[in-house]
Amino acid sequence: MEEIINVFNLNKSFDTNHVLKGVSFQVNRGDVVAVIGSSGSGKSTLLRCLIDLEKADSGTITMEGKDLMKDGVYASQNEIRSIIMKMGMVFQHFNLFPHLTVRQNLELAPKVVKKEKGEAMDMRCEKHLAQVGLLEKIDAMPSTLSGGEKQRVAIARALMMNPDILLFDEPTSALDPELTGEVLNVMQQLAEAHMTMIVVTHEMSFAREVANKILFMNDGIILEEGTPEDIFEHPKNDRTKEFLSSIT
Ligand code: ADP
Ligand code: MG
Repeated sequence: MEEIINVFNLNKSFDTNHVLKGVSFQVNRGDVVAVIGSSGSGKSTLLRCLIDLEKADSGTITMEGKDLMKDGVYASQNEIRSIIMKMGMVFQHFNLFPHLTVRQNLELAPKVVKKEKGEAMDMRCEKHLAQVGLLEKIDAMPSTLSGGEKQRVAIARALMMNPDILLFDEPTSALDPELTGEVLNVMQQLAEAHMTMIVVTHEMSFAREVANKILFMNDGIILEEGTPEDIFEHPKNDRTKEFLSSIT
């Protein structure tokens, strides 16, 4: 199994608030890892450290054999840029650019970061919009889309950079319940196409059915880790049991 991400003993504080307290885990190519746990347990901070939106204080983050940070020392800006270029992130609140059309949202990063242009990029844009079922919205402004459509555009936008891994931070938490299914379906299709993903989620049915690995975070550590069967059918830790009964 080819390792994509390896995190070892990651620590992160905000002032005196020790948020990540020695987090270690690995992700192999094709894994769908669901990160579950109570609000405030450090799930978003963990994802944000992986993609360099937050700086961790100590530990090691390795992506496809390259160290983003090793023993608390960060790689150079150029190295960091080339490492995180292979990661895509989808946020709870979509973060589409409101003044740009759907097409312009998808094509911005490839243009700016990779100097892409022309027909090949347009074709990729159309391909990824078709993949999320929104080709007909290519010239729409984000404000005219439903929440579920915005999130599917955000996923298509992340795919435009040909990521080796996609990170999702509660991608359906801001959506009306009737719109979560369309987003989860797109994510399930990506999983079936062997996209490597880390998904922070409260959707336990998605975690159970689509993920092959579950990380239960509690108070800044991964308290329990295993297959969906391990975690949902045979949780070992009392805290895990308590969390699962609170959410289902
Ligand atoms: P989760 O995603 O599991 O709900 P977070 O990673 O968002 O947890 O937050 C973990 C802790 O870190 C919380 O106590 C939160 O208040 C704190 N925190 C997160 N981001 C920041 C920040 N930018 N500045 C200060 N504290 C933060
Ligand atoms: Mg969060």
